[in-house]
Amino acid sequence: MVLRSARCSQINSVAQSFRRGQHRAKSALAPQFLLDTYIPRYQLLTAQQEARKRSEAYAHLRNCNLCPRLCGVNRFERTGTCLIGSDVVVNTVAPHFGEEPTIQGRNGSGSVFFSGCNLRCVFCQNHDIAHQKNGFHLSPEELADWYIKLQDVGGVHNINLVTPEHVVPQVALSILHAKELGLKVPIIYNTSSFDSLASIELLDGLVDIYLPDFKVWNAKTSQRLLKADDYATVAMESIKAMHDQVGDLCFTSDGIAKKGVLLRHLVMPGFEEEGKHIVRWLSENVSKDLYVHIMDQYHPRAHVGKEKRSRIGRAEDVAEGMVEPGGQAAGEQGKKQVRYEEINRAVKMDEVDSVKKAAEESGLWRFADASEHSIFSI
Ligand code: SF4
Repeated sequence: MVLRSARCSQINSVAQSFRRGQHRAKSALAPQFLLDTYIPRYQLLTAQQEARKRSEAYAHLRNCNLCPRLCGVNRFERTGTCLIGSDVVVNTVAPHFGEEPTIQGRNGSGSVFFSGCNLRCVFCQNHDIAHQKNGFHLSPEELADWYIKLQDVGGVHNINLVTPEHVVPQVALSILHAKELGLKVPIIYNTSSFDSLASIELLDGLVDIYLPDFKVWNAKTSQRLLKADDYATVAMESIKAMHDQVGDLCFTSDGIAKKGVLLRHLVMPGFEEEGKHIVRWLSENVSKDLYVHIMDQYHPRAHVGKEKRSRIGRAEDVAEGMVEPGGQAAGEQGKKQVRYEEINRAVKMDEVDSVKKAAEESGLWRFADASEHSIFSI
C-alpha cells in the first residue's frame, strides 16, 4: 500500500507537469494513460450479453429509431432518411494512412467507409461516399469477413468504422460475428456525433475507441450547414455517453491508441467562435484530459461554391435587362452568387490558432499534433 501511494503521488506530479505543458510532445504516453496490455471490450462480453446485443440489434432494425432522425421504419422493408436498409453499403475497405498517427501506426488503420449518412453536411469532405449510395451491399456476416481480412492480411492496428451512425445494428452484429471468427484488434467508432443514446448503449462493450467529431455549436449554423438544428444538443449528450463508457484515450507503449475518446473538431472558415465554445464545453463538461485533434484541413466541397439556384440571374431576367435592388443588373449579381458563400474558402491559420489557444486556456492539454520524432504522436 505504501509503495502504491508513493507511486500515485509520483504519477500525480508527472501529470501536473504534463498539464503545465512541459511534456507536450509526449502527452499521449503520460503514465496515467499507458496500458501494459489491452484486450478489446468485445472479447470480454459473456454469451448472455452477446445474445442480448443481437436481439436488440434486430429489434432496432425492425423499428429504426436508432439515430436522432427517428424514422421508425422497418429496415428489412424500406429505408429512412439515411437511405440504407438492412444490409450496409460499403464504399471502401482498406488499410488507411490518413488518420492520426496514433490510430494509423505503421501498418494503417483498417478502415471501412460506409455509404450514406444521417446528416446532410453541405460541406461534406467525403461527399462522394457519404452523400451517395455507392458501394457494395454487405450483410453483417460479410462485413465481419472483411474485418478478419484487414486484421490477418493487412496487419492493421484496429478496425475503423467511418460514418457508421446509420448502421449501428449491422455493425453490432458484425463485431459479434467477427469475434467468433478470431478478431482481436480494437474497434473504432468514427462518428459525426449525431448519434442517439440508444445507439451508444447498443455499442457499449463492442467499441474500444470513440472518434467523434464536434462540428458546430449554434442551432442556426447546424440547421443551415448540417440540416439538423439539434446537432449540438445531440452531440453533447452522445459525446458524454461515449466518454462515460471508455474514458480518456489510452495507449500501449508502442504509441498505438487502444481505448478511450479521441475528439476531432474541424475548424470552419469564419466560425472560429463556435470552435472556441466547443473546446470550452469539452473541457468543462467532459474531461480536461480529453485527447483532442483540432483540424485545419477544411476545403470547400460538396454543395459549397456551386452556383446558387435563385431567381436572381435567371436567363429570362438577364434577357429582359431587369435591375435587382441595389442597382445591379440581374445577370451581374447572379454570376457572382454561389451557395454557402460564407464557407467558400479554405480556413486561415490564425482562425485555427485562435481555437487552439482557447482550448489550451480552457485547460485541455492533450492534442493530436504530428510527432517531432517519429510517425507516432507520442
Ligand atoms: S438510422 Fe436511418 S432509418 Fe434509422 S432513424 Fe436514422 S436515418 Fe432513420
